[in-house]
Amino acid sequence: SKKSGRNCSTLFIDKMATEAAELLKLERDISNAIFKDEFFFVLQPLISSVTMEVTSAEALIRWQRGDTIVAPNDFIPFLEESAMIIEVGDKMLTKVCEFLVQLKQRGLLTASFKIAVNISGKQLSEADFIDKVTTVLRKYQIAGHYLEFEITESVALDNLKDTINKINELKQIGISFSLDDFGTGYSSLSHLKDLPVDKLKIDQSFINDINVDKQDENLVKSILQLAVNLGIVTVAEGVETKEQVEWLKENGSMLLQGYYFSRPILPNEFIEKYLISKDE
Ligand code: C2E
Ligand code: CA
Ligand code: CA
Ligand code: CA
Repeated sequence: SKKSGRNCSTLFIDKMATEAAELLKLERDISNAIFKDEFFFVLQPLISSVTMEVTSAEALIRWQRGDTIVAPNDFIPFLEESAMIIEVGDKMLTKVCEFLVQLKQRGLLTASFKIAVNISGKQLSEADFIDKVTTVLRKYQIAGHYLEFEITESVALDNLKDTINKINELKQIGISFSLDDFGTGYSSLSHLKDLPVDKLKIDQSFINDINVDKQDENLVKSILQLAVNLGIVTVAEGVETKEQVEWLKENGSMLLQGYYFSRPILPNEFIEKYLISKDE
């Protein structure tokens, strides 16, 4: 029982002990979650700023932990620390392929549609990553162009040459690549020059204040211009307001993604909302 006379350090130690216990439980729960298959994905649409139509969707992982749904920022870092991210990432890819099969069977898969999957640096640096990808595509009879891989700048740091080779090999089977969180990493520009990506996603931290902050406005303008010069498609992430949409259309961001259009939703909701045309 707690006494009022206890000093700070005792409380601090208590707090640390509680946190350590919670962390242990989290780690145990995460490895159990893999066996129990508690991970699933939600989809968020990407919208063309020209046609205002949905061109693709990003798959974002979620963890059904008992009654609560856990967001990736609360467990991906733990998975990244171990090899578990590879297992979970592979499983996500399988689930996305299964979903694509479902769309195909229902006649809802148009040739230009894609699903973007976030790929961890650990997955990409695995020696058999390409084998795994080609195997899953063959198993489900899905063409590579239905997939896009989102990578962050950090993946490239370890072994740039190997990363570039793998990207090129996967591009040959139709998979496109997108450089995620552009602008947040170290030395963004040099990586953009080196990595053969098709798209760059401007991090939401730059998009937030484009209508408010002149500096952010200029920065995003430069990124958009740079992308045009390099022949790379741009995606603005975290678009939340009408003003942002208008600004981004005007300044030539080709694709838009954010809560303004839709939060990430369950695959079945995505089908209902975006893939089944109501007037058919
Ligand atoms: P990310 O790849 O940058 O994904 C975008 C994040 O921004 C998502 O958070 C999305 O829900 C959120 N978002 C989208 N639109 C808006 C908006 O208008 N406003 C705001 N405030 N947020 C918006 P989420 O789903 O929590 O994912 C967080 C991160 O977790 C992702 O960032 C990605 O780095 C990672 N992640 C998600 N799924 C996977 C996965 O399957 N594998 C790996 N390795 N990482 C994943
Ligand atoms: Ca992403
Ligand atoms: Ca991002
Ligand atoms: Ca992010």
